[in-house]
Amino acid sequence: MKRTGLFLLACTLAFTVMAQRADYNIIPLPREVTTDTTQLQRIASGMGIAYDSSNAEVSRTAQFLQQWVKEATGIQLQLTPDDKKAQVKLLLNPKFKAPEASQTASEAYTISVGKKGIELTAAEPAGLFRAAQTLRKSMPVLKDGAEAVELPYVQIADQPRFSYRGVLLDCGRHFFSVEFVKQFLDAMALHGCNQFHWHLSEDQGWRFEVKALPDLAKKGSVRQKSIIAPAKVRLYDNIPYGGYYTQEECRDVVRYAAERYINVVPEIDMPGHMQSALHVFPNLGCTGGPYVVAPHWGVMREVLCGGNPETLTFLKTVFGELCDVFPSPYIHIGGDECPKERWKNCPKCQAKIKELGLTDESKVAVEGGDRRRHRNVLARNEGRRRSCQAETSRHYESQRLLLHRPSAAC
Ligand SMILES: [Zn+2]
Repeated sequence: MKRTGLFLLACTLAFTVMAQRADYNIIPLPREVTTDTTQLQRIASGMGIAYDSSNAEVSRTAQFLQQWVKEATGIQLQLTPDDKKAQVKLLLNPKFKAPEASQTASEAYTISVGKKGIELTAAEPAGLFRAAQTLRKSMPVLKDGAEAVELPYVQIADQPRFSYRGVLLDCGRHFFSVEFVKQFLDAMALHGCNQFHWHLSEDQGWRFEVKALPDLAKKGSVRQKSIIAPAKVRLYDNIPYGGYYTQEECRDVVRYAAERYINVVPEIDMPGHMQSALHVFPNLGCTGGPYVVAPHWGVMREVLCGGNPETLTFLKTVFGELCDVFPSPYIHIGGDECPKERWKNCPKCQAKIKELGLTDESKVAVEGGDRRRHRNVLARNEGRRRSCQAETSRHYESQRLLLHRPSAAC
């Protein structure tokens, strides 16, 4: 008896270690979760994932799910597209109805864990991807792996509440490798985000390769030192710091993001925050420079000159290549923190103000009489929408200085 008791105890302990349980209490919490914890399904190594292998997007999601379950639990599911008895099924059903008829309907999905196994259903591949992420997040993370995971029966119905779920990464002040950017995109996808706002230019560094202006990234990306103390102390490390993304790398990031249903919104911040560009092209500033790539943080008084026609040529070149590389429907033009001190004292800017009959620098807008000739720098990329910092709505006129297009808001 004693030996049998020990054996049973060992079996119980072993089962406790081997079989871990899924938990649907995840972030973001799905819209509807109805759980029956009295009944369980299991997944274990060797079980299959069925899916429509003729659909490339669904096939990719099946591979993602296989990889995610393996990473979290050590369980090796098999890709078995034609196995109708597979434990996990990715079901693309055009008749599937989203809980709400809104812009996010294509991302809606359901997950059913019950007698028939684990079924993920959506009308669109994007919905199946969201479903797979939810199943992934419900899995326990097991350092030493497990032989099986138990899933309480559940009915999940989910759909994102907001269509634009974005995160900004500032690569202007701090350069991050493409490898890191991809990890960042993975983290975004894990949390259901779908818009990657990529901040690609700053006073402290220019990060986007412009082929027609090769020095812009080569020289504009490098600051000679970085501040290492509170701003007033002005203590620097005296170590050159730089880095930029080639257009090929940017296209690679766009592809990687798209595979995770994330759009990349590129940002070139203007007309302020342009000191790195002014370092390379001092003729675009009101004083003519020289300028350095900023080694410290803050709001710089050096901004693009609005009275210089070369500024418009520069912006057309930059945004033209930016739009070629990034298919995003949104192109971000920054627009924050632009002191007007230089414009007040610049003969070119003042001449333009006089020419246009404007009253002060906040209304410097060369679109005026030249509206037809000065087309929006994004005009050749029809269908693109400008996006800008919220602050810009307070002084959007200064954006018109460089965009040459009337707009009540960005
Ligand atoms: Zn000027």
